[in-house]
Amino acid sequence: TKFTDLGLAEPLLKALAAEGYETPTPIQAQAIPSIRDGRDLLGAAQTGTGKTAAFSLPMLHRLMNQPRRMQPRSVRALILSPTRELSAQIEASIRTYAQFTSLKSTVIFGGVPVGKQIRALGQHVDILVATPGRLLDLVDQRAVSLREIEFLVLDEADQMLDLGFIHALRKIATLIPKQRQTLLFSATMPKAIREIAQAYLTDPVEVAV
Ligand code: AMP
Repeated sequence: TKFTDLGLAEPLLKALAAEGYETPTPIQAQAIPSIRDGRDLLGAAQTGTGKTAAFSLPMLHRLMNQPRRMQPRSVRALILSPTRELSAQIEASIRTYAQFTSLKSTVIFGGVPVGKQIRALGQHVDILVATPGRLLDLVDQRAVSLREIEFLVLDEADQMLDLGFIHALRKIATLIPKQRQTLLFSATMPKAIREIAQAYLTDPVEVAV
């Protein structure tokens, strides 16, 4: 399989070519067509497998193909991750893949002052990458609205549970429209993750690498 066989929009293929990516990794080859077609997905995959591109590319493809006018401070896609390092890394990847589109991303995480993040959310943002605690703070401050979310990605879900983010996740889920596409990635699939998948995904495609 080549990236050009996966039905992705031309600006995304151009970004992949610019990065020198030619061949999709196994999780990319398995996940991209299903996500591009609108399916929910439960992915068992570790970091280093290429899972960031596996969810980001088809997400960007769908967002590009269904342009929408958004309310101020509203975002279309939310990616939750357990740590600031991972969140920053995911956002940097999304920025690279989206470089030839008009889609904008930003990242927010705890442990740093909120001012700059609040200002960033005042600009047009399509895709928000966030750690759960800081996201809830900024929702409480009305710096961001989750009411128009079309895509929810839970990345490294087992890590988020281990770090005690379950209450934050549940709260965030109540703020997001039920009608949305949801993707969940986890290195391990213990019972607690299966239960979250059961609660938040609809008829998911399952992929394991
Ligand atoms: P991830 O598992 O998403 O953290 O990705 C691991 C690393 O592999 C990242 O540095 C990516 O930039 C790189 N990568 C992801 N997909 C591909 C690909 N298809 N070809 C070459 N490098 C890739």
